[in-house]
Amino acid sequence: MSAKVIDGKRIAQEIREEVRQETEKLKAQGIVPGLAVVLVGGDPASAVYVGSKEKTCLEMGFHSEVHRLPEDTTEEQLLELVDSLNQNEKVHGILVQLPLPKHIQEKSVIDAIAVEKDVDGFSPQSTGNLVIGDESLLPCTPAGIIELIKRTGTEISGKHAVVIGRSNIVGKPVAMLLLRENATVTVCHSRTANMERIAAEADILVVAIGKPKAIDSRYVKPGAVVIDVGVNRLDTGKLAGDVDYDDCSAKASAITPVPGGVGPMTIAMLMQNTLKAAKLKAGV
Ligand code: NAP
Repeated sequence: MSAKVIDGKRIAQEIREEVRQETEKLKAQGIVPGLAVVLVGGDPASAVYVGSKEKTCLEMGFHSEVHRLPEDTTEEQLLELVDSLNQNEKVHGILVQLPLPKHIQEKSVIDAIAVEKDVDGFSPQSTGNLVIGDESLLPCTPAGIIELIKRTGTEISGKHAVVIGRSNIVGKPVAMLLLRENATVTVCHSRTANMERIAAEADILVVAIGKPKAIDSRYVKPGAVVIDVGVNRLDTGKLAGDVDYDDCSAKASAITPVPGGVGPMTIAMLMQNTLKAAKLKAGV
């Protein structure tokens, strides 16, 4: 039997359409969600990401601002821009595209973003809110993973979820979100002993390690839902996930492909966060 393919492209499109429709209603009340994206320097991959965020904002009907700054921008100048965006009434979400040039401390810049505008959800305050269960903007990729699982019709509550990877941007926050959804959560990492045995007990297996095809069917319980966050460029130029898709799809009940699984969810959740920030600001 082959697993059901979790179609992230379709689910992301569904979320974007929901955001677009809700934005239309908000605009009728005079509220226009706004996202400001800041790009420092000329990294080609970052320029592509920023371009697609700008395009998606416009499709949603948002107010969109992109601030493209030269490579030699100082940290002080960038902090001044963030401060002015914090004050800007038209802007509900601020995203500083990472990585930043080496002479700028990313932490100082992320910390400077007002928590109510932190649509990337990476600041210490947003992370703290997530951990204690307070209202907050959730980090986009982890929130997208939860949406993928839910919209595939999988009940999370009461399940054993195993997360492989403990980074601050994926592993840890997705583990906290699964816990919030009442899963019993185990987090594995590079020092975990008996990882194969632990993973093979998971009803929901989330893999975010950045190692192409490292997880094969020995790590998968029959009927498990497998979410592959990994995006790895192979020597052939093709993209591969962290999961050996062909091997695992024979054993899982549902699995995300790479590309077309988790990837498309990130921008969709960024749009949803911007809308949420605008609604929270307006109190609607
Ligand atoms: P990261 O910061 O490099 O963290 C990798 C984590 O995996 C670490 O916690 C590491 O453990 C653990 N790890 C590495 N090798 C392992 C192994 N063999 N067995 C068990 N654990 C292992 O990576 P990341 O930023 O979380 O990203 C992970 C992957 O997701 C990458 O391929 C990235 O490109 C992808 N990603 C995709 C999206 C998206 O689709 N939108 C977004 C973000 C990331 P230690 O902590 O012990 O070192």
